[in-house]
Amino acid sequence: MRAVLDHVGIAVQNIDEALAFYRDALGLEIEAPQEVPSERVRARAVPVGPSALELLEPTGSDSAIAKYLERRGPGVHHITLRVDDIAGVVAHLRARGVRLVNEQPRQGAGGSLVVFVHPSAAHGVLVELKQAARPRSALVPKRFAWGDLALASVHDGLFGLDGGAMFGVVPRPLWEAHAPPDDRNRILLAMRPLVVEAEWGRMIIDCGAGDKMNGKQRDIYALERTRHLDHALADVGLDADAIDLVLATHLHWDHFGGATTRQGAEVVPRFQRARYVIRAAEWDDATHTHERNRASYIPDDFLPLQAASVVELFEDDRSIRPGVRVVRTGGHTGQHQIVFIESTGRTAVFVADLIPTTAHIRDAWIMGYDLFPMETLAFKQRFIREAIEREYLVFFEHDPLVAAGYIRERDGRRYVEQVL
Ligand SMILES: [Zn+2]
Ligand SMILES: [Zn+2]
Repeated sequence: MRAVLDHVGIAVQNIDEALAFYRDALGLEIEAPQEVPSERVRARAVPVGPSALELLEPTGSDSAIAKYLERRGPGVHHITLRVDDIAGVVAHLRARGVRLVNEQPRQGAGGSLVVFVHPSAAHGVLVELKQAARPRSALVPKRFAWGDLALASVHDGLFGLDGGAMFGVVPRPLWEAHAPPDDRNRILLAMRPLVVEAEWGRMIIDCGAGDKMNGKQRDIYALERTRHLDHALADVGLDADAIDLVLATHLHWDHFGGATTRQGAEVVPRFQRARYVIRAAEWDDATHTHERNRASYIPDDFLPLQAASVVELFEDDRSIRPGVRVVRTGGHTGQHQIVFIESTGRTAVFVADLIPTTAHIRDAWIMGYDLFPMETLAFKQRFIREAIEREYLVFFEHDPLVAAGYIRERDGRRYVEQVL
């Protein structure tokens, strides 16, 4: 467990009197007063580096702080440790028989989740564990060196898909803690293509949904592209014309819709200078759909590329360019593939819909959309083992918060150590 000291809570009879010491004598800055009606306290935070002292004054005689003052007088009431994964920490503590005041995390200030460890288990100290409220999404384009290559994580905005469909056989009470659904049961997802830069040129792996959807489709899929791929490319100093190659993991609209764009009545290639590299059998599947996959393949996303003679089809697993190789996973679609990016002994893997979000690192958490879920399971189990052992940097194309990280395992529990 990794924890940061968030604050030290100090019970005081009267905040204004306490300020005479903490503000005036010590000369520390004080934050604006805060009222926490549910705890019947008012608080003033005194920042000290990355942590704070929190002065707590009761506003009612039934508040825990009032009772504490009555019993023990003013003094240190609790310390608060901030953790990333409070559910994981609670499971870890319970497995070790640590006594907790509340076993289920409860809502703290500002949307945080908190659990208290009983003072008897913490040698006389009341320890509060807190998971800070997470932002809804984080789409921050970033470029960084990867051996002899450079990688740029970009995005094409956000969308939503049915939470049940995203987690297959996993019941909602389990997945909703990881991916809270909206009032139409959709969970928030990102579209995060990856740019690889090398001396042979610039490649983008997948390219988001693009701008061709009509109002009804945008509404169904909660498409939110106020900031989209053009903005993200500009953020890392690029534009569509800087791309030499577009590589598709598969041709679903949320991965390859951005390959083309409307120009008047026509649909044309979006990346004017680029060749489009596509697995031949995926092309066949996308152009010969059936009832089960038809909604995912939109002919306008790829047929105009063929008309413009910019498509390069290939048959088997292979190196696309030095340092970039594709491996067929099957499962999600018959020809779904992931991309290994290797340089100077380091391996990054763009896993596309094999592990669409960090929640999907659990073996059985497989999308209902997958055509061959048992194939997904077999490949994923093997791949995740390998990713943990060899420390692959894994890119999660649909995660709204985590663009990439290392999959780790401790005490049989898997988690992702976020890198960007
Ligand atoms: Zn897909
Ligand atoms: Zn997808």
